[in-house]
Amino acid sequence: MSQKTSPLSTLVVQGREFLIKRDELFDPYLSGNKYRKLHKLLHTPSGKYKTIISYGGTQSNAMLALAALCKEKKWHFIYYTKKIAQIQKEQTIGNFFQALTFGMEHRELENELYRDFIATLDINLDADSYLVHQGGADSIAREGLEVLAQEIREQNPDVKSVATPSGTGTTALYLALALKEYTVYTTPSIGDVAYLKEQMRALSAIPDNLVILEPAKKYHFAKPYKEFYEIYCETKEAGIEFDLLYAPSLWLTLLQLTREKILYVHSGGVSGNESMLERYKKKGFVSL
Ligand SMILES: *Cc1c(COP(=O)(O)O)cnc(C)c1O
Repeated sequence: MSQKTSPLSTLVVQGREFLIKRDELFDPYLSGNKYRKLHKLLHTPSGKYKTIISYGGTQSNAMLALAALCKEKKWHFIYYTKKIAQIQKEQTIGNFFQALTFGMEHRELENELYRDFIATLDINLDADSYLVHQGGADSIAREGLEVLAQEIREQNPDVKSVATPSGTGTTALYLALALKEYTVYTTPSIGDVAYLKEQMRALSAIPDNLVILEPAKKYHFAKPYKEFYEIYCETKEAGIEFDLLYAPSLWLTLLQLTREKILYVHSGGVSGNESMLERYKKKGFVSL
C-alpha cells in the first residue's frame, strides 16, 4: 500500500469511450475512494494512535478498508453497529466476515441507544484514539482527494469531465473542490439529490463544477435491481468490474444524460460483490 499513481484505462460502453481511473487496483480491501479518504491516516505514523473507532453498517466498504488499514498499522479497531442478525454473524463471506479476520472488534448497540451513544463517541475520545465518522465522511478525507486531483492533472487526460458515485458525497465533493477546472458528475446512491446535498453541505459549500445528476428511477440503497445487474455485466464484459451498490446508477445515468468523453474514477468496492451476487441469485436475476 505504498504511494503510487493509479493507471488510466479505456473502456467502451454502449459504443462510447470512457477513461477509467483504476483506483480499485490499490489493494483488494483498502482501495477505491476509501483508499483516498483514508490517505491521511495511512500516512500517519503508527505510534500516533492506539485505537481507531468507527461505526455504521455491517457490510460497509469503509469498515473493511479501516479494518485493513488498522491491521497494517497495528491499531486496535473498534466498530459499533446496531444489533445484527445471528445469520450475519455466522457468514463466512462478505465485508463483515473479512473485517473480523483482520482483527476488528465488533460492538453491538441496542437500536434505541445507538444514536445517542454514537453522539458521545467524539466527547469521550482520548488522545490515543481517533474517531472516523460513518462511511469516512470526515474532513480528513480532503487530503487524499487532493492527491487524486493532482494525479489526474498530471495524467492530463483529454477530457473536461470526471465522474464518481456518491454515498455520503464526501468523495465527489472534495474531488470537485480540488479539481475546479473539471466538471465533476455524481449521482446519489443513498436517498435523493436533496439528501445528498444536505450531507455535502455538512462538510463544505457545494462548488459550481459539481453536477449532481438525478437517476431516472428512485432506487433503494443495497437492493438488487435487474438493470443494475445488467450494467454490471456490461461493464465487466467490456473489461472492468465495478461494485454493485454505487456504480450501477451512476453508469446508467451517465449513459442517459451525458454525451461527452468522461474520466470515471473507479470507487472500489469490488470485494463486496460476492455477497451481493448471492442476493441477486436468490432474486433470480442471475442465470447460473
Ligand atoms: C463508499 C463508497 C462510495 C461512496 O463514497 P462517498 O465518499 O461516501 O460518497 C462509492 N462507491 C463505493 C464502491 C464505495 O465503497
